[in-house]
Amino acid sequence: MNSNAAAGAGPPFGRFFLPGPTEVRPEVLEAQTRVMMGHRGADIQDLMRELQVGLKAVFLTDRPVFVSTSSASGLMEAAVRNGAAKRVLALVNGAFSQRFGDIARSCGMQVDEVAVPWGEAHDPEAVVTALAGGSYDAVTVVHSETSTGVLNDLPAISAVVAGHGDTLLLVDSVTGCGGAELRTDAWGLDFVLTGSQKALALPPGLSFGVASEAMLSRSASMTRKGYYFDLIEFATNIDKLQTPSTPALSTMYALQVQLQYITTETMEARWARHTAMAERTHAWVADMQASGVALRVMAPEGHRSGTVTAVALPEDMSGPAIVKGMKERGWVIGGGYGKLKDTSFRIGHMGDHTLDELNELLAELTEVVR
Ligand SMILES: *Cc1c(COP(=O)(O)O)cnc(C)c1O
Repeated sequence: MNSNAAAGAGPPFGRFFLPGPTEVRPEVLEAQTRVMMGHRGADIQDLMRELQVGLKAVFLTDRPVFVSTSSASGLMEAAVRNGAAKRVLALVNGAFSQRFGDIARSCGMQVDEVAVPWGEAHDPEAVVTALAGGSYDAVTVVHSETSTGVLNDLPAISAVVAGHGDTLLLVDSVTGCGGAELRTDAWGLDFVLTGSQKALALPPGLSFGVASEAMLSRSASMTRKGYYFDLIEFATNIDKLQTPSTPALSTMYALQVQLQYITTETMEARWARHTAMAERTHAWVADMQASGVALRVMAPEGHRSGTVTAVALPEDMSGPAIVKGMKERGWVIGGGYGKLKDTSFRIGHMGDHTLDELNELLAELTEVVR
């Protein structure tokens, strides 16, 4: 039933609310013990064919979904190395969007930033202004900023970028995809990526990405994009239902099982479940406020992620103390990220969690924060 507790390595199932890695169903974990297969040939092609059906439904795309054996940061690097030759506009509103810009810089790009304070969302009008001020190969944006729980308005930002013919939109949807509404094709995203260990509730080890036609032709024109993350290689190989190099097979087995759960649930129901968990969390924060504990949802209304809530604390409360208090009771929540460590905590209500589990968590949390 609960191999975690049996191994003494973690809390019982249903109590692990970290915003990544997230809790993984025992059935999905067990799939990883299957025997190996060759990564060239009919067996992997059968597996990949099935995975593609499920992954396309997750991303809402008709295009192939690349499977990369790397954490999501690998595909963030792939995004900029394949999508930009020189100039990148980085939309920064938290730690991960800052990282996206830093990755571009480390790949030798000239990076300008549209930066808003952590905890705020981007105003598409500011992106209009920034794009008018220079000619950029690509714009980087994070859909769901895991450090603050802010959700950016991707369709609006994409519409702005679409007005600049040669500028590609590169999207980190690591804690969006699989939990928050994401429509790759309908929203016209040039590259969108996620990791296995967030809202898809898989073990870490794989990341997934979808490239538009424009992204692939940009990649084809690019020199010095490196070897491991060359998207043309991914595209050529996925046409043969394969990957450029040996994939993390065990995580693919886990994905096969998890995609069956996701397909049964449907994406719409999955988004709705996440929205319900997010709203429940926001309501709990409001209840705490009403009872005199001055907690605050960091993200502004209308820009709150369905998958993660960062809760800002009053000065006399400590984030690490609350995380520790929960741990002592057998529950895992996330600490504040980076510079927000002391002044906030985060609840990762994503993956396969249920409202019932969340209610139990919040009941414990009520006692800890009081
Ligand atoms: C977790 C996370 C990443 C980094 O993912 P890795 O798999 O650790 O490389 C990037 N962006 C966002 C928004 C994340 O939440």
